[in-house]
Amino acid sequence: MLTDIFKAIDAAYPEMVERRRYLHQHPELSFQETKTAAYIAQFYEDLGLPYEKNVGGNGVIATLKGGKPGKTVALRADFDALPIQDEKDVPYRSTVDGVMHACGHDGHTSTLLTLAKVMTAYKDNVPGTIVFLHQHAEEYAPGGAKPIIESGALDHVDAVFGTHLWATTPLGVLETSKDVLMAGADRFEINVQGQGGHGAYPHETKDAIIIATQLITQLQHIVSRRLDPLETAVVTVGQFEAGNAFNIIADTAHIKGTVRYLKPEIQALVMSEMEKIVKGVSTSHDVECTLNYFKGYPPLVNNANEAGLVLEASKEIDAIHTRNEIIPVMGGEDFAYYVMDKPGAYFFTGAQLEGHEYPHHHPMFDFDEQAMPIAAKTLISAYFAYQT
Ligand code: MN
Repeated sequence: MLTDIFKAIDAAYPEMVERRRYLHQHPELSFQETKTAAYIAQFYEDLGLPYEKNVGGNGVIATLKGGKPGKTVALRADFDALPIQDEKDVPYRSTVDGVMHACGHDGHTSTLLTLAKVMTAYKDNVPGTIVFLHQHAEEYAPGGAKPIIESGALDHVDAVFGTHLWATTPLGVLETSKDVLMAGADRFEINVQGQGGHGAYPHETKDAIIIATQLITQLQHIVSRRLDPLETAVVTVGQFEAGNAFNIIADTAHIKGTVRYLKPEIQALVMSEMEKIVKGVSTSHDVECTLNYFKGYPPLVNNANEAGLVLEASKEIDAIHTRNEIIPVMGGEDFAYYVMDKPGAYFFTGAQLEGHEYPHHHPMFDFDEQAMPIAAKTLISAYFAYQT
């Protein structure tokens, strides 16, 4: 049956591209994806599959109950876009100013919708239940995955699989991990309240710039001097604002940054070291520095068994010539919550567009649409592998 399904997916390629391009032209930001959610719901309405909308926010979940007994497996696709101006010169360019599908979530959505349509024709012979999980708001923490899980909509699900079209990996390459695939991603802000004054009378001030630079330097010591060299973390200060004029000592300074980690105990270490540094610098300069630490998505840890199923089952797909077990990437992804809750695996489907190679979240981002049928085949192969 899988061979027939693969053929049907290939035959549906033109409509898959058409849907992807429609979505690409009509992107919506995280938590505002009402039209996209309505488009998805209408698709299932027309297809005649039962679905639920407004799941945990804008989420849409459709269910295909197969004619044979088996397990219930969710296949997940996210559908939000990013606050980026689309700078590509293509007919399917975004029609919304400053909003763009710059991460490929349009492709994820079209892949899953088309797969649902294909599988409907095989309904009677399908073992188990396929849950088509369309998730809103992946790009912006706290994200859509958590409220969808908390809504209870996945309580009856046995396992979850998902994929990301990966534009920096060549077409035909599948990447996953039997352990951590993606990092935990947090955000922090430090505000320094000094005491400004005349640039010629520094002894009468508390220079917020000098204090903030000490903070920034000391933050670099967390990874280089507090962390076991065999462990991994990132502490990046990406924003530093202070000062108004060349001859005025700054009153305040603002630092913003991100932390990436692979294990909860490393996150705890970074947080506690950061608190100590902020407290220490405050004390030594007799000022108030405040740290606001926002926990984002936790690390995405695949289940070894389910990741193994993806790798093994994908061998039936001709278009995949290479399967790599990779070391974690330091990007974050709220699929992490699903695999904390249920067994499952996430994988990258190589989608590099030759001659147009831009990373995700870039104004020129695009991917090779031929990756979509590969992603659909891998997802459904994993589904069937999980049934046996
Ligand atoms: Mn993404």
